[in-house]
Amino acid sequence: MIQLTDAEIKNRCENDSVYKRGIEYYLAGRIHNFTYNKAGTVFQAFVMGTSLYRVMVQRYHGELYTSCTCPAKAKYGGDCKHIAAVLMYIKNNQAEIEDNLKNKVAYDLFKEFEEREYIPDELKQPVNIEVTLESDQLNTSLSLRMGIDKLYVVKSIKKFFDDIDEGMVVEFGKGFSFDPSVNTFKDEDMKLIKFLREIYEIDKINTENSYYRVDSVVSGKYVRLTPSNLEKFIEVMNGSHFNLVLDGKSYYDVDVAFEDLPINFKLEKGNNGKNLRLIVEEIEKVRALDRKGNFFCV
Ligand SMILES: [Zn+2]
Repeated sequence: MIQLTDAEIKNRCENDSVYKRGIEYYLAGRIHNFTYNKAGTVFQAFVMGTSLYRVMVQRYHGELYTSCTCPAKAKYGGDCKHIAAVLMYIKNNQAEIEDNLKNKVAYDLFKEFEEREYIPDELKQPVNIEVTLESDQLNTSLSLRMGIDKLYVVKSIKKFFDDIDEGMVVEFGKGFSFDPSVNTFKDEDMKLIKFLREIYEIDKINTENSYYRVDSVVSGKYVRLTPSNLEKFIEVMNGSHFNLVLDGKSYYDVDVAFEDLPINFKLEKGNNGKNLRLIVEEIEKVRALDRKGNFFCV
């Protein structure tokens, strides 16, 4: 069971006026279809605001995790008025909820939820992702940052995938934790996540089932890219942006473009009027991303 106080609900809110609006919503009876699981650890309700939003409240390892499908929760991170209203509802109906749980009345209330167990992906809160490609003479590798309002470095990509596969909450510090039961990735980031997951899974098989010591390509915050994986990455990032660190120099919000290089070639006659000289303009701005010369940074 979730034990709540007014002070806790207030503290979780983005600010005091959000808290006050939450109480107003609660008092105005804007909460609908309030349900919970038989363990009394997951609560769900719909709150009528500008439109109908779905609020989830979950207790996990003693911590309270909340999500709401409204834009404010995604934008600010702190609890929105809809969550505050639902928490207030839980707080004020605590005795009745506990009674229902004891008498198993909630079983029927929650049948649909139990069958599913997990929240459908479309109701989860998506996180923001930023990817950085670092390339120098020796290596090409990727790293990730993610969060809701502020972005945090994914310090171990291997552990991140290990943890979310186990259904564990990944802590990124005070401001953000990724909970696979309430968080998800944005549609436009799914291709990138799938790409990284593939590398992670192959790497896992290679390093775990080998008699010999195999160098892991997923190490700490970096995923090392082979030339063919770099090619895949460029395809995956077509239409979105990434950061690029090329030989130590940073470029932000890099686009992928499949087009001819913006280089002008000029043929000029040599001084004696007989030889031709090839002049390449703007070549100093163009840098190769890979040895094969498939990709260039312009
Ligand atoms: Zn909300």
